[in-house]
Amino acid sequence: MKFCSTSNKNIQVSFEEAVRQGMAADGGLFVPETIDQLPENFWRNFPQKSFNQISVEVASHFLKGSLPEEDLRKIIQHSLMFDAPLVKVESTIFALELFHGPTLAFKDFGARFLAEVLGYYIGRKQEEITVLVATSGDTGSAVAHGFFNLPGIRVVVLYPSGKVTESQEKQFTTLGGNVTALEVAGTFDDCQRMVKQAFSDEEIRLRRTLTSANSINVARLLPQMFYYFRAFQQIPLPQQKLVIAVPSGNFGNLTAGLWAKKMGLPVDRFVAATNVNNVVPEYLRTKIFRPIHSKMTISNAMDVGDPSNFPRMMGLYNFDHASLTNDVSGYEFTDDETVEAIREVYRTFKYIMDPHGAVGYLGLKKYLANSHFPSTGIFLETAHPAKFKETVEKSITTSIQLPEPLLKLMSKEKKTICIKNDFKELKEYLLNSD
Ligand SMILES: *Cc1c(COP(=O)(O)O)cnc(C)c1O
Repeated sequence: MKFCSTSNKNIQVSFEEAVRQGMAADGGLFVPETIDQLPENFWRNFPQKSFNQISVEVASHFLKGSLPEEDLRKIIQHSLMFDAPLVKVESTIFALELFHGPTLAFKDFGARFLAEVLGYYIGRKQEEITVLVATSGDTGSAVAHGFFNLPGIRVVVLYPSGKVTESQEKQFTTLGGNVTALEVAGTFDDCQRMVKQAFSDEEIRLRRTLTSANSINVARLLPQMFYYFRAFQQIPLPQQKLVIAVPSGNFGNLTAGLWAKKMGLPVDRFVAATNVNNVVPEYLRTKIFRPIHSKMTISNAMDVGDPSNFPRMMGLYNFDHASLTNDVSGYEFTDDETVEAIREVYRTFKYIMDPHGAVGYLGLKKYLANSHFPSTGIFLETAHPAKFKETVEKSITTSIQLPEPLLKLMSKEKKTICIKNDFKELKEYLLNSD
């Protein structure tokens, strides 16, 4: 299958090209040329299929001809060796826990799959590439872990000094090996600007092959479809109407869910749940899409004022507001409401949500309160609550355990190279290190 640009259907490239380029030459985002229903035999024996098997079949639907199935199977085996369990919270409300990967957030799915795919294509041509990424926290750790020790690949992570949490920092500064962390005296915006400058610098382009692993890469979206199928497999009453709430920032996660529905997954309604960065809920209400400057919240991985996957989402509905609202409802919530939800759900059901999952939960409850059908509700739990220890502990007034992988990291020594927020220093590092 070809992949084409959201802004021009005539720009079509192979999967390998889409992965390498990240973004289309016209500034659009790559999407599958078509999204067809899965074949009948996918659903045969569906309840018995392993997560692995489901993932291979869903991916093959798009990658037949781009990757031999045997290689695809290996890629999925290496990158996705953790489950996405559906955990009961209330009688008909479930959390789909997406934080059982090595960095305890759902970004592990996308980043690890992308790393394996890129590693596969690079390896076959014996190339050497540098993955350059700016992070405000979670992306850096998922990407660094995903690419850790893959041959031919060097990872350089830029992050703003003093502006990420200690556990986030430890996740990409203690790996060593092929991962270097550049600690920038500046803000996240400085880091992002320096990375962009590196990609357009003649001399660097001549001497280094750079690639970005950012969230618009289509290879990060494909594996995010897998767990929607896995969720459906674990529902006790699959005949009931199904509502899935997705806590959203750049809307990659929700887009993947909508793709899964297009492939035949029986979801009756998606809920786009945001914090006060409410550009999409606002669009759903008013038909007006108006990007904003992002506002800081306690669900900080969703502090996005101009969601990058919006064109992918709209493209799926032929840019028609009415068809989109047939499938998707949107709500936004304040930090106070989020904290209150974490507290209440813990008090009543003894389930600990992280601030992102809590926004999803709130969206789900709000939708269900106005719906007249008995439904099964799922909200995506996108991060382990321990990653947001302070906020969560304040809400539930008990202390939470750091899970084993985080605990181990906290005792490891951080190694970084400190640089100024000056592109020259980044350039010098990229050209003179190997
Ligand atoms: C990135 C992230 C989100 C937002 O996901 P999008 O695909 O950008 O909408 C939600 N929760 C957590 C924990 C994240 O890291």
